[in-house]
Amino acid sequence: MKSSSKILITVDVEDWYQVENLRPWFPPEKWPELISRVEKNTLKLLDLFDSFSKKISATFFVLGQLAEKKTDLIRQIKNKGHEVASHGYSHRLCNEMRYEDLKADLIKSKDLLENILGENIYGYRAPSFSINNQILDLIKECGYRYDSSYNSFDKHGRYGAICIDKYRLNGIAMALDDDFYELPISNLQIAGQIIPWGGGGYFRLLPFGVFKRGITRILNLKQAYLFYIHPWEIDPGQPKIKSAKGLSVWRHYINLEKTYGRLSTMISRFSDSEFLTCSQYLGI
Ligand SMILES: [Zn+2]
Repeated sequence: MKSSSKILITVDVEDWYQVENLRPWFPPEKWPELISRVEKNTLKLLDLFDSFSKKISATFFVLGQLAEKKTDLIRQIKNKGHEVASHGYSHRLCNEMRYEDLKADLIKSKDLLENILGENIYGYRAPSFSINNQILDLIKECGYRYDSSYNSFDKHGRYGAICIDKYRLNGIAMALDDDFYELPISNLQIAGQIIPWGGGGYFRLLPFGVFKRGITRILNLKQAYLFYIHPWEIDPGQPKIKSAKGLSVWRHYINLEKTYGRLSTMISRFSDSEFLTCSQYLGI
């Protein structure tokens, strides 16, 4: 691994009940009745990043309707030197919204965060990576400078897909033009197969030594690695839905008690790398 490697840690800031996997049990109309745990978990991540002698800068994609209620948390993220970006307002999947509704959601979440922080918001991440080329054009039109929603793993039913032929590659960033970039989630490619390696269930399930080898391989190839995590992934104490079954629910709850330690280990083991925000990496 080269010492110039860059690691982009990204955090999708949403509450334990707002994730797509649990939507059948927690539809949005139930959210106001549920006990929020996002603040505590996000503060724990901020403390973890602070605990290293090396500067760890990360990007926090915050859900708008949560930012509205937790303005102090949003300011704390920024004041600790991290980047605040948008995870949309409603957490409805982009490819299931009408064009006008998606446009309103993109603009509302951006405006909201800019009003809280008094500075420009550049980045956007779609719920469940639900993008396509038309949606990317709209994200750009709404004033964002980059999107980080492309996940090349195509075996997941909800993820979107984009045609990347028209992009110029610059490190891991794909430039649509001089003003707009796509920062994809990092995956491994082995024998033509895409294996999810940017976080989520695989990060929690595989032994860390195995996961680490994959990160090293990505860094050797691309000199940068983009990782994602959610605050609920470090919260083994979150309420569990006993009646919930199926692969996605199993994947959702697997090894939550190990995630915090693994993230800490990951940062330590790659301490030769620079830990940058998405905007820092893109130079915007
Ligand atoms: Zn999300």
